[in-house]
Amino acid sequence: MTEKTTLAGLMQDHALTVDRFIDFAARWHGTTPVVSRTVTGETERSSYADIAQRARLLSSALLGRGIVEGDRVATLAMNHARHVEAWYGVMGIGAVCHTVNPRLFDEQIVYIINHAGDRILLADAAFVPLLGRVLPHCPSIEQVILFPDGSPEDSPFPTIGYEAFLREAGAAANWAGIDERAACGLCYTSGTTGQPKGVLYSHRSNYLHALATLQHDFMNFSARDVVLPVVPMFHANAWGIAFSAPASGAKLVMPGARLDGASLESLIHEEGVTFAAGVPTVWQGLLQHLARSGGSLGTLKRVLIGGSACPPALLQALEDDHGVEVVHAWGMTETSPVATAASPTVATVALPAEQRRAQALKQGRPMFDVDLCLKGEDGEIVPHNGATPGHLMVRGSTVAGAYFRHDADILDAEGWFDTGDVATIDEHGFVRITDRSKDLIKSGGEWISSIEIENMVMSHPAVANAAVVGQPHERWGERPLLIVEAREGATATSGELIAHLEGRIAKWWMPDEVRFVDRIPLGATGKIDKKRIRAEMIGQPA
Ligand code: AMP
Repeated sequence: MTEKTTLAGLMQDHALTVDRFIDFAARWHGTTPVVSRTVTGETERSSYADIAQRARLLSSALLGRGIVEGDRVATLAMNHARHVEAWYGVMGIGAVCHTVNPRLFDEQIVYIINHAGDRILLADAAFVPLLGRVLPHCPSIEQVILFPDGSPEDSPFPTIGYEAFLREAGAAANWAGIDERAACGLCYTSGTTGQPKGVLYSHRSNYLHALATLQHDFMNFSARDVVLPVVPMFHANAWGIAFSAPASGAKLVMPGARLDGASLESLIHEEGVTFAAGVPTVWQGLLQHLARSGGSLGTLKRVLIGGSACPPALLQALEDDHGVEVVHAWGMTETSPVATAASPTVATVALPAEQRRAQALKQGRPMFDVDLCLKGEDGEIVPHNGATPGHLMVRGSTVAGAYFRHDADILDAEGWFDTGDVATIDEHGFVRITDRSKDLIKSGGEWISSIEIENMVMSHPAVANAAVVGQPHERWGERPLLIVEAREGATATSGELIAHLEGRIAKWWMPDEVRFVDRIPLGATGKIDKKRIRAEMIGQPA
């Protein structure tokens, strides 16, 4: 025997596959509820034990239709218990669950279904009209299965109801023997530049990501928590919550299609939600509703906000007016997605209140197993001094190494992935995103941070949402143009907003022009759609 083999660890070993999350929850938290809001507004109650059992029936029915390891099975659905069953039922047999975002344009949905080569599609019945438009262009789809059940009479294509499909199953399937490095999930980026690109998660990467997000400074769920993922399961892996909630035994509350303020408020109160996760626009909608209704956030203790920068006014309203702790996180589809969060450290907790809040508004420190650095245009490391911006680079076992069916190399020679974000990193290791590299405004050779101006404008009481884009300028190259959506019933003039910015941003960052719009366009994942703003407002090609 060589020394190498004698030195091998003598510990038990099992593959790090995601089915373990639901099996653990079924065995130790089997009766813990998983509550779903239906399209008609009622709540349906399931449990981790039910989900594990029904997911195995789905696996069996899929095997019966000839689905084998590596095949792609798509979902086009909102957050509900059946969708969770679908994830585990597909992934448990080594097939790949491709979450399709229904908010993408039809052409993008057609593109990603064809690019993925999906064989079966599980979809909410509410999306039948959308499917009627796209499916004629998606020849790889052999079968459409509709949630919750039944097949609408007016469906333009053959479907089977989800419950009827489960009845096709023989005995519940066995989930053993999947390699932890095998693919289990496929999620396309929202395609803000060019066509959407597929990020192919492995069992192992999702497993490690879920465990890492459970650290205290990130999601920190416990079996006493009631978790509401407002972030949809079709956006960036639902931030891993369909894995991390069962891993912790937390009760899961799935909001379905109703993400408006009134629906979220009633769900929080009825189910005793303690933790919720979503993009800033969701919380802004909820707070606007509460301001009108005089309602409260009840049992809610903590929210994770990410996907785009958390405006200071939002953090302030949640923490100071409602007593809800905000964890501001950053990540991207390519990073599974959570990578950093701005939870305090011993050193930052000791800072004066204003600076503590400034830290909380940054995107924060990396979670375990994520490494970050800043690089300049020349590929050299930029100092982490909290002031010098650079391209934010990331690497780790939860970071994409390549895109699905895409030849291009996406890592540099040292294995770093360029996030496309521009950031600073301070002496406490806190990242502050100053812009997307393509959204940066370059004026007189210097960078202007559109995010910073947007945040400052949004702290004005009359402003509901704001976007800043670069407008071509003969002398300076580009100058900032400010687009504003006023709060319902409120008005402000350009002069008032400019006066509000004075002293809060550098003089030369001051927008040259302010334009008011009824609605700031949002993209498929609830973020401001700057591509559309640039196309519609300054005639730049999309
Ligand atoms: P997606 O893959 O759709 O989740 O988009 C990822 C991108 O969203 C990142 O590269 C950032 O540009 C942006 N993003 C995510 N979280 C934040 C945040 N907390 N602050 C600012 N930008 C963010």
